[in-house]
Formats: sequence, structure tokens, C-alpha cells
Amino acid sequence: MAEGGEAERANPTISALFEEHRVFPPPPEFTVRANVRDRLLYENAERDLEGFWAEAAEGIDWFRKWDRVLEWSPPFAKWFVGGQLNAAFNCLDRHVRTWRRNKAAIIWEGEPGEQRVLTYGDLHREVSKFANVLKHLGVKNGDRVALYMPMIPELVVALLACARLGAPHTVVFGGFSPESLRGRINDAQAKVVITADGGFRRGSIVPLKQNVDEALAGCPSVENVILVRRIGEAVHMHFHEGRDHWYHRLMDEAPLQCPAEPMDAEDPLYILHTSGTTAKPKGVVHTTGGYMVGVSATHRWVFDIKDEDIFWCTADIGWVTGHSYVVYGPLANGATVFMYEGSPDWPDKSRWWEIIEKYRISILYTAPTAIRSFMGWGEQHVRKHDLSSLRLLGTVGEPINPEAWMWYQEHIGGGRCPIVDTWWQTETGMIMVSPLPGVTTTKPGSATFPLPGVRAEVVDEYGNPVPSGSGGYLVLTRPWPAMLRTIYGDPERYVSVYFSRFGPKVYFTGDGAKRDEDLYLWLLGRVDDVMNVSGHRISTIEVESALVDHKDVAEAAVIGRSHAVKGQAVAAFVTLKAGVPLSRDKADDLKTHVIEKIGALARPEEIFFTAELPKTRSGKIMRRLLRDIAEGRALGDTTTLADPTVIARLRTQYEENAES
Ligand code: AMP
Repeated sequence: MAEGGEAERANPTISALFEEHRVFPPPPEFTVRANVRDRLLYENAERDLEGFWAEAAEGIDWFRKWDRVLEWSPPFAKWFVGGQLNAAFNCLDRHVRTWRRNKAAIIWEGEPGEQRVLTYGDLHREVSKFANVLKHLGVKNGDRVALYMPMIPELVVALLACARLGAPHTVVFGGFSPESLRGRINDAQAKVVITADGGFRRGSIVPLKQNVDEALAGCPSVENVILVRRIGEAVHMHFHEGRDHWYHRLMDEAPLQCPAEPMDAEDPLYILHTSGTTAKPKGVVHTTGGYMVGVSATHRWVFDIKDEDIFWCTADIGWVTGHSYVVYGPLANGATVFMYEGSPDWPDKSRWWEIIEKYRISILYTAPTAIRSFMGWGEQHVRKHDLSSLRLLGTVGEPINPEAWMWYQEHIGGGRCPIVDTWWQTETGMIMVSPLPGVTTTKPGSATFPLPGVRAEVVDEYGNPVPSGSGGYLVLTRPWPAMLRTIYGDPERYVSVYFSRFGPKVYFTGDGAKRDEDLYLWLLGRVDDVMNVSGHRISTIEVESALVDHKDVAEAAVIGRSHAVKGQAVAAFVTLKAGVPLSRDKADDLKTHVIEKIGALARPEEIFFTAELPKTRSGKIMRRLLRDIAEGRALGDTTTLADPTVIARLRTQYEENAES
């Protein structure tokens, strides 16, 4: 069918996937000790969905118990209605009353090599003090706070301090440009920005504060900026008296006690922006009760977390994976989280393996793009280190090709660690499709089955389930506790993007998928205009808008082209304005422009200049054909083209260009 074909084009590894017949049953020695050892959870969820989630909610501390588990008036869901709780209380206070007070909550290593350990007692104290700092600056329940920080413990402190007060945080990944930061701050109408003087990345300094200053030139809602000193003398920055405050100065004066604010289960916990199919990122809203239940339960089931584990999720807290599985899930479960500030190849390519050996990491959760980079760098970097502490491996962010899965299993997992390939999204808040490591027989490249309580289907364009082996759209047909509740400031977009294509009861994921004859799910990549570059979601339209914003560009079409390491790479086809000469450095100039507008993660890998773009008669650019050209495939259906000669010329030019 057409859509499956579309998805297959997006991910050509799919034909390889379907030749994949290797199976890996859970190792018996793992199952005996696993948190989930049998199919009971699946059966319970099938029998009584609300009872099942109510039981999962017992894993959270409530100030007031809920009256109703679920109110579902499609497409609007409310979970644990009437319940009251606090996310920071669940991550801290309930642990400091037990032996865990002196257990490490965060073990951190900075890129230059410093180490810090914060026990649950330490983290509780820092968070309480910082919540008082925020209060002192006028932040109260419901106010939004923006965070633009490096991966340092103060980022976790800031997040939990916001949660303690009931002030929704909105974290902006430190790799975003001042302009992207400004857009997100304004969308959330944040009152305070928390940042650092800078961050370390591959030995150089990311000028975070300078970016904030630039962004704030157009952010009238921001009253105060709090600055963590991470770099010190080596960074040049301006200090705006009256607006800017040093974190450490404020902390020196802050009182120790700050009670956690009781929040309604449906009160927002945070806003996190993600790319959609338009130029404007969507502010996904997550609420407190359902989210905390969802992330803590899935963290227990999927990662089999135990008190003695050292859990390392390598995601930056700027992404949802960091929110759910660096901060809220693990800390709610009283786990020890390892956190690393820098990049995997600094000062050399064995940094991660050195870390695993040094801290005895037992669970590693990372992205396929990282695994493919390591494969490319060679096993010698891995072999130097003792990775015997690892017992479970996870992946997230994009489909993992079987070859990378096998490499991960063999070279990192020593052949003994189960792999959990977890499919989920910013909007789902929690893992939705994944093996349970003590239960599920895995197949390399398949995310296997929906978790207990989750129902996923693969449907055709009319919403009918497709037979196994056929491609279709992945949809979720039941509400789940950690689901997004709305798009901040744009409730209509919530309905139109997720719940209109197949009606108000069916959540449209935007991903293509297939089910094999054993009902295993195989994700095929996005079916919309969203690219997945190194596991990061980037909108083609957003990059196109950045390009046409350049004074010399008349028109631009952007596609995600298959890339051996990144999964997809950004490729742009650009038409220059009449009279603009094509100079040698024009492509670099445009790449820099995209970095300035969005951030380095959106930088086009290649820019191809063309006099015309292939369009339908109604004037729509046919990106599908551009992808065919960029990937050297036979062209798909060209009958709807207004001028079929354009595409033929473009292909010849493209190929000539690639050869030269
Ligand atoms: P984000 O919201 O930025 O976390 O991106 C979510 C998107 O990443 C999904 O819609 C998928 O396209 C992709 N994705 C995440 N995890 C997986 C996975 N395990 N397998 C395949 N694709 C994935």
C-alpha cells in the first residue's frame, strides 16, 4: 500500500529487517531475578485497564488519593482525577525518610573530568533551597520557568525545584540557537530563565549565557535570569545588573526548608517543545499524576531497576528521554543515576567505556546513532575496558538496524545482556512499545510489543488494521497515563495533529510500522515531513523556513536522506533569487544561516542548487522524488508532476554534482 511504501522509502533498511530471523529469548539467569518475570501484567491490563493503572499508581506517593482513575472523553483524557501529589516529593522526600537518604541519587562526571556525587539527602536539600530562591524571585504555582543549561547536577536541581513549587518548566536543549530559544521562551511566556555562563562540548565552550542575552532581546515576559557558574574566568559574558543573579549567591542565602506544593494530578508538570510538520515547534504539555505513574512504572518494568543498579541514560535533559529517564522515572524509583556532561569522543573515543568501567554502570540506555558511530570507530576502543558490570542495554530515538543491534549485543553487552529497543515520543511521555527484558524474546531491529496497558495497531489510510507483513500507520488506540494533554496555547492543534486523522479515539503517531507474522512491531520511520537526524526530530518545513529567510534564497525543499551513522541527514535543494551569482561558499553561507536560525543539529549535510524544484500541478513540492534522487533510487510515481522534465534535469545535475 501507498503509505507502507512511503515509510519504506523513509527507511530502506526495512527490506533487510524482514530478512531478519534471529531470535534472542531472555537469558534464564536474568528472568529469575527480573522485576517482571511472566505475562501477568499483560493479562491484568487486558482484564481491567483502570484497575491495572490504579495498581501502578500505588508506586507513587499521593497527598490525596484519586477519585477516578480515568475520565476519557475522546480525545481528552484525565487521569487519577481528584488525586493530589508532588513530583519532586516523589523523587526526593519519600526517599530521604528511608535508608536512601544516604544513597547516591546522582553520580556526575564533567567533560573535563571532575566528579560529583549527590545523595538523595543532598539533592533534597539543594532542591528545597533552590525552590526558595525561585519563590524569592516571585515564582509561584503555575508560572513558567525556562531552562537552558549544560548537563550538570544544577539542571536536575532546577527541574525539581520548579516541580516542587508547581511552576511548569520548559527545558530548551543547549544546542539550540538564540532564535529558537527565544521562540520557546515566548511560546511558554516564561518568567525566569535559568542558564549557566557556558557549557563544555568537545573541549570548547558553548556560550550559553551569551545566547540567552541575545534571545532575551525579544522576550518581554522574562523578569530574572539565574546563572550557574560552570566555566568561570575563561568565558566572556555580560552581567545585567538587576536582571541577572548568580546561582551560588542566591543559594548562600536561601533557607533550607521548602514544603512541596500539593498539585492536582492534572496540573501541568512541564512543557517541552518538539518539531512538528509546520515551522513552529509544538509545546507538548505533560501533567503531574499520570506522567509520574507512567514514567516510574515503565522505568521499573523495562529497565528492571534495582537498588544496586547504576543507571545511565545518555540523553540530554533537553529531550524528553532525559526528562523521563534521567530525572523523573529513575528518581521516583530511588535509583542511582549516572550523568555525564560531555561528548563520547572527548578526549578520545573510549570515554564512555572508561566511564562504564569506572562507575560500574549496570544499565545503559542510548541511541542507535551513537551505536553506529562506535561501530565506525572500531572495537579497539571498547576492548580496552572492562564492561562486565553491564546487565541490560536499551536503545531509543529511531529504528535500530539489525547490524547495529548485533554489534551492541556482542561488543557492549558481551553477549549476555538483553536489549530493550524502546519506541516512544515526546508526546507519549513514557515508553510505549518495548520488550520486557525478563519476558520477551527479542528480534534484532524490532521494538517487539506494546507494553502492558498500551494498545498499538498498524492501520491503513482508512484506519483499518492491515494484515501482518503490510506496512501502515502506527496508531495508539487507548489512552495512557503519561499522554500529552494539549499543545500549550494551541488546544486545536492537539486535536488536529493527533486525533483527527482516524477520529478522536485514535492517536496518530506520525510513524510507519509493520507487524510480522509473530505480531512483532517493526518501526519504519516517520511518514510525515519530520526528519529524524541522530535521533532528533527536525521538521523539514522548519529548515526550509530558515533557508528562505536568507536574503539570497528564492525557494527551498528539504528532505531527510538515509545516512549510515545519523539515520537521516538533512539535504536541501535550493533555488537562488534571480541575479544572485552561485559562488563557491554559498552553500557554507546557507548552512551557517540554518545554524544561526535553529541550531547546529539542523545544519544541512548537503545543499544542492537548482533552477527549479519538482512540483505538482497544485504547486506542492514533491519531496518524495527529491528523496529518490538524493538516495540514488528509481523515481517513484511522477504522473502528478506539473513539468516532468524538471525532475529529469534535476537528477542528471545531481548525479554530475555528486561525481565531481
Ligand atoms: P521524539 O519525540 O523527539 O523523542 O521523537 C520521537 C520519534 O522518534 C518517533 O516518532 C519515532 O519516529 C522515533 N523513535 C523513537 N524511538 C524509536 C524506536 N525505538 N524505534 C523507531 N523509531 C523510534
